[in-house]
Amino acid sequence: MTDQHDVFQPDQSIIDNAWVSDWKTLEEKAKADPVAYWEEQARNLEWSKPWDKVLDDSGKPFFKWFTGARTNIVTNAVDRHLNTARRNKLALIWVGENTDEVRTFSYFALNREVEQMANVLKAMGVRKGDVVTIYLPRIPEIFFAMLACAKIGAVHSVVFAGYSSEALNQRIDGSESKVVITADGSWINGKVFPMKQIVDDAVKFSPTVENVIVVRNTKSDVAMDSTRDHWYHELCKLPIAKGKCQTVQVDAEDPLFILYTSGSTGKPKAIVHTHGGYQVGTYTTLRNCFDIKEEDRWWCTADPGWITGHSYLVYGPLLNGATVFMHEGGPTYPYPDGWWQLIEHYGITSFYTAPTAIRTLMRFGEAWVRKHDLSSLRILGSVGEPINPEAWRWFHDVVGNGKCPITDTWWQTETGMFQITTVPAMPLKPGAAGRPVFGQEAAVMDEEGNELPPGQEGFLVLKNPWPSMMRTLYKDPDRYLDTYWKKYPGLYLTGDSARIDEDGYIWIIGRTDDVIKVSGHRIGTAEVESALVSHPAVAEAAAIGLPHEVKGNSIHCTVILAQGYEPSKQLTADLRAHVAEVLSPIAKPDSFDFVEKLPKTRSGKIMRRVLKARALGQDEGDLSTLDD
Ligand code: ATP
Ligand code: MG
Repeated sequence: MTDQHDVFQPDQSIIDNAWVSDWKTLEEKAKADPVAYWEEQARNLEWSKPWDKVLDDSGKPFFKWFTGARTNIVTNAVDRHLNTARRNKLALIWVGENTDEVRTFSYFALNREVEQMANVLKAMGVRKGDVVTIYLPRIPEIFFAMLACAKIGAVHSVVFAGYSSEALNQRIDGSESKVVITADGSWINGKVFPMKQIVDDAVKFSPTVENVIVVRNTKSDVAMDSTRDHWYHELCKLPIAKGKCQTVQVDAEDPLFILYTSGSTGKPKAIVHTHGGYQVGTYTTLRNCFDIKEEDRWWCTADPGWITGHSYLVYGPLLNGATVFMHEGGPTYPYPDGWWQLIEHYGITSFYTAPTAIRTLMRFGEAWVRKHDLSSLRILGSVGEPINPEAWRWFHDVVGNGKCPITDTWWQTETGMFQITTVPAMPLKPGAAGRPVFGQEAAVMDEEGNELPPGQEGFLVLKNPWPSMMRTLYKDPDRYLDTYWKKYPGLYLTGDSARIDEDGYIWIIGRTDDVIKVSGHRIGTAEVESALVSHPAVAEAAAIGLPHEVKGNSIHCTVILAQGYEPSKQLTADLRAHVAEVLSPIAKPDSFDFVEKLPKTRSGKIMRRVLKARALGQDEGDLSTLDD
């Protein structure tokens, strides 16, 4: 049923101008020899010592890439641009929640800021391999802090700036950080979120923390412990902060960062990424899939506290020498056209966001978009959840004015880079994530370990190792083996369920654990949700399975209605009939809840496990990443 959707063919001009025009040939070539493909990509970056081996799989599934090589991601993301015309190019344009506040940095200026922060960290005794916890809002200092750690070989652990003191405490303790970098507060919809206070509560019970660096952002009053806390702007006046700071060359396999997954399906996992492979993966995928060009202005709306922010707000764009745009604010404050206003004002060419934001903005209607001239846009992107065909079309037709390709990108904190997506020269299918990236192959498996033919739904696996794959779970190699490599030896288990169509396009239909088995049929949450969202009354929907005596499971849907609609018996009947018609009578929801808000992770994903626990009156589990 999913194979009969529309196909959008790219314009010839897009194909002609793209980095990758002849994608079929490249796909074949990379498939024939993925290791050679990755080696070729790695040559686009600088290494102070070349690798002995591209892929070392002797300890698999603990794979190693570019072994023997020396490099540093900062050498490639910042330093090398300083010897070119990019030195004076804007690396970062930052706009505050109050859009009158603007700060811009050329690559030259970015380097100066990174050196300064690195000097401060060194003076505090941070050494290679030490973990520094970064708890900062979407302000330029989060770039400086991440890059400064990497520059001196320290490992950053960014904790999303909305986490509670308890969650922050656990993450600081887990990594035994001696230094925490934070801000006095952050702006959220016109109000101050008291970050420093949360850090105070978190480090009370963290014996390892010796120093807390505080960036002045909201200018709110905060308590400062004179033996532990330091204003960053005052540190910068000291001689220790001044002068050049060398980028240390590290082993390609040395850790770059630790980052936690979103916690959609359970307790967040601490993922470890390294310098060498990660830089090759993020550089290459951003260039191919978003066709990054010298004159682009790239806006990724993700927070730096998630993998999307790490790979495609900070590292990927800087590795490509792009101009990055970052905005402190969310999509609807103060008005639902704030983002469109910024695209117009700053001439954004490439806009990468999440389905949750698109669905939210859709609810306000297209007039808010039409008020603005968005003709600078040339490419759009989506990440985080399956994008419902309905939201895809709105994004394409209204935001992109029908002329911008949409790059849907399926990937995970674990994968570090895109895995299933498209390049602009490929035909697009709304609702399908796309094809495995060059050098990757994917399959859909049944419970017994057989590869399923096209059209059938099952467990999505990745067949080949890739450079920016996680190396392990931090201090938990056993969980790494169990979670990803045990079910099908030799294959990476993604935890998602999917279907591959006859053309090789992959349709993600939900989390494996969330697939609803009704009377022997397997129904994906994404399919039911997409069907509901295609009804004009529905803005957002979440589907879960609940135990049912006869059918095994019943389908329960929690729905946010679009503006102007009210719950009623008639509407419930209409929605059931609609799902039966557009999806299948078997998938007809049994019950509905109408709500104003769905439980989501702070990265914007629906937490179906919370809805399920609530419906069954069970314990809601780890709620550390629940948005409130
Ligand atoms: P946890 O692993 O803790 O449950 P999480 O899986 O939500 O959290 P992330 O690594 O942030 O943590 O998200 C990866 C998951 O997000 C993927 O496994 C997939 O389910 C979903 N996802 C990401 N991008 C897409 C996309 N473009 N289409 C469909 N699903 C996507
Ligand atoms: Mg996951």
